[in-house]
Amino acid sequence: MTAPAAREPLRRVRRDVAASPFIRDRPLTEIYRSSPLFTALRDPDRLGGRCGACEFRTICGGSRSRAYACSGDVLGEEPWYAYEPGSFPYQKEPAAHV
Ligand code: SF4
Repeated sequence: MTAPAAREPLRRVRRDVAASPFIRDRPLTEIYRSSPLFTALRDPDRLGGRCGACEFRTICGGSRSRAYACSGDVLGEEPWYAYEPGSFPYQKEPAAHV
């Protein structure tokens, strides 16, 4: 990936945020609590791809910013993570081993 290409995801995020008029019109706490985007980000059952199938989605969830930057889907899978869901050797109580 060339340097300008590597910066494109960040440009896309800045463009999308700047185009959102509500961030200037509503308190940030209200946006965080009630916006469909932030509501979706707090719900691990709405994650897609590997993250949606992962036994660690409630304690990890992957990088939502990286998913959005690389695919345009903020609820998509974490694209740089190598873990394959279901391959953790202690499946019965994964949280006890983290
Ligand atoms: S980033 Fe990896 S460990 Fe985290 S939820 Fe996604 S697949 Fe699971």
